Amino acid sequence: MKKLWAALAAATLFALSSGAGAADYPERTITFVVPFSAGGPTDTVTRLVAEAMSKDLGQQVLVENVGGAGGTLGAARVANAEPDGYTLLLHHIGMATSATLYRKLPYDTLNAFEYVGLVTDVPMTIVARKDLEPTDLKGLIEYAKANKDTVTVANAGIGAASHLCGMMFMSAIETSLVTVPYKGTGPAMTDLLGGQVDIMCDQTTNTTKQIQAGTIKAYAVTSAKRLDVLPDVPTAEEAGLPGFQVGIWHGVYAPKGTPAEITERLSKSLQLALKDQNVVDRFAELGTAPSTEAEATPDGLKSKLESEIARWKPVIEAAGVYAD
Ligand code: ASP
Repeated sequence: MKKLWAALAAATLFALSSGAGAADYPERTITFVVPFSAGGPTDTVTRLVAEAMSKDLGQQVLVENVGGAGGTLGAARVANAEPDGYTLLLHHIGMATSATLYRKLPYDTLNAFEYVGLVTDVPMTIVARKDLEPTDLKGLIEYAKANKDTVTVANAGIGAASHLCGMMFMSAIETSLVTVPYKGTGPAMTDLLGGQVDIMCDQTTNTTKQIQAGTIKAYAVTSAKRLDVLPDVPTAEEAGLPGFQVGIWHGVYAPKGTPAEITERLSKSLQLALKDQNVVDRFAELGTAPSTEAEATPDGLKSKLESEIARWKPVIEAAGVYAD
C-alpha cells in the first residue's frame, strides 16, 4: 500500500511538474546542438534561426557545436538529453543517411526524437582550391581520374552531406579518390582556402561567399537550375553529370518525450523565425530559402525524415558503404 501511495505521489508530482513546465516554457536559456564544427554551413543556418527564435521565445538561444562521426555524436547528445525543450538538435539530411550508413548507431533514429519542423533545403556546390588546374567540371573529372591516388576530397565524416555528395561524385565518375574527414566543413573550408585539400562538395551556405570572392573555384551546383547568387556556376547536369541533383534539408528535433505543447510552441517560433527579414535575406545571400510554413511543422519534418530514410537506404546498400 505504501508503495502504491509513493508511486501515485510520484506520478502526480511528475504530471504537475511537466504540466507546469510546458505552460511556462521557456523559462531559461535554450541550447541548439549543431552536430558539426563552428563556422560551417549547419552552424551558419542554426545561428541565424536561433537568433530569430530567441526574439520570439524571449529567452537566449545558445548554439553548442558537437562535431564528429558525421553528425552522429551531436545527435546522440540530444537523444540522451532531458526531454524538457531546453536541448534541441538542428541536423540535416545526415539524420536520414546515417540511419543506414552506421551499423551501430547510438540512438534509434525514428524513435529517439520528437519533431519541430523543417528549416531549409540547401543546394550543394562542387568546389576546389583556387589553384587546382581544371577550369570546368569535365576537366575536373578527367583530372580526378588521372590522379585518383593523390586527389583529396574533404568531408565531414561518414553520413555527412559532404560525404554523401562526395560519394555521389565518385560513383558518377566511377573513380575512388582520397577522402579526408573533418568534424565539419567549417574547418574543411579553412584547409581548402589554405590549399591543404583539393576538392569538396558542400552546401552553398558555406561556399557562396568564397566563390563570389574568388578564393575557391566552383565547378557546379547540384540544384535543378542555376542560382541567382552564383549565375556563372553551371548546374552539374549542364556541366556533364546528368541526374546529379541533391538538396541538403535541415530540421529541428527535440529528445523523445518532450511534451507536445513544447514542440508545438517551438514549431510556431520556427515558422516565425523563417519569416524574419534577416533570416530571409541572409538565406537568399547564401543561395537558399526558408522552408514553407507547412514544412516547418512536426508532421512536415517527420514525413521528410521517413521518406528520406527510405530513399537513401537502397542507394547506400547498393554502394555498400558502412561505418561501425
Ligand atoms: N556541411 C557539413 C556536411 O558535410 C556539415 C557542416 O559542417 O555543417 O554535412
